Parts: sequence; C-alpha cells; structure tokens
Amino acid sequence: MLLKVNLRHLDQGPTELDGELPLEEFLGDFKDELVRIVSPIRYSIAVERDGEALVIRGQISTDLSCDCARCLMTFPQKLEMKDFLVVVPLEGDDAPTRDGDFADLTPYVRTDTFLALPTKPLCNPDCRGLPQKATARDSRLETEAPEASPWLALDRLKL
Ligand SMILES: [Zn+2]
Repeated sequence: MLLKVNLRHLDQGPTELDGELPLEEFLGDFKDELVRIVSPIRYSIAVERDGEALVIRGQISTDLSCDCARCLMTFPQKLEMKDFLVVVPLEGDDAPTRDGDFADLTPYVRTDTFLALPTKPLCNPDCRGLPQKATARDSRLETEAPEASPWLALDRLKL
C-alpha cells in the first residue's frame, strides 16, 4: 500500500496528502516503447468524502524520458497533471482495497498517470523525422526516347 488515506479521519474533513510514490512499486509491469517514467511520482492531493465516494483532487507530476516518435531522439519531458481529479466509489467493484481504516488510492493515481503519458512524444512539434534518403533521381526521362512527334504518328496512320 503506497498512497493510503485514513477513512476515519475523513469524517472530520478533507485530508491533505503530499509525498512521493517509489517508482519501482508504482510501475509494476508498465512498459511503453517510447516513454519511460524516470522519477518517483510526486503527489499533492486532498481527499474528501462525498457520501459514498471519495473525491481526490490535486497535482501529480513526474519526469519522463521519451523517444521522439519521428526521429527517435531521446529527450526529457515533465508530466504534470495540475487538475488531477478522480472520484472513487467506496462500495462495489471499483472500491479501493482497504486495510482497517486505510484505503489504498495508488491504483487510481497509477491509472490516470499512465493515461496522461504522451502516446506520440515529439522532440519538437515541428520534428521532421529522420533525414530522408536522397531519392534516386528519376532517370526514366533521360533514357526514354523523346515523345514521337504528332506528325510522325499521323504519317504512320497514312501508311
Ligand atoms: Zn524528433
């Protein structure tokens, strides 16, 4: 259990949580071809109880190392979710895992973080990708016989 909130404390009002989620546990079996998360997940959130649900809002950020989808250059990028907001039902299939009074909120942060990762990272919005191989000059025009003159074609018709 990484990011947990004491449900009993929520009866007295919102709980603020700040900290970092260690990367290794957070990542689990996450794998992406172009994007790697390279620093612990920083969170600064407030958890509030709203009837039978928890409302989590705040900021989540981390550092990424991306490979440009066009030119494959590796570049650093920050991931910042400034308006992180998730509503977690306290009952049912989507309810958090509990340990006594504590509810584990990690999976909700994990899901949203993965969803927020760039799917097509670009080193630069204008990246043109790998330099194109100079296209072999089309030599057909040079080798092909010049087009027969229309007069020649007419002559042939007469024959
Ligand atoms: Zn690029």
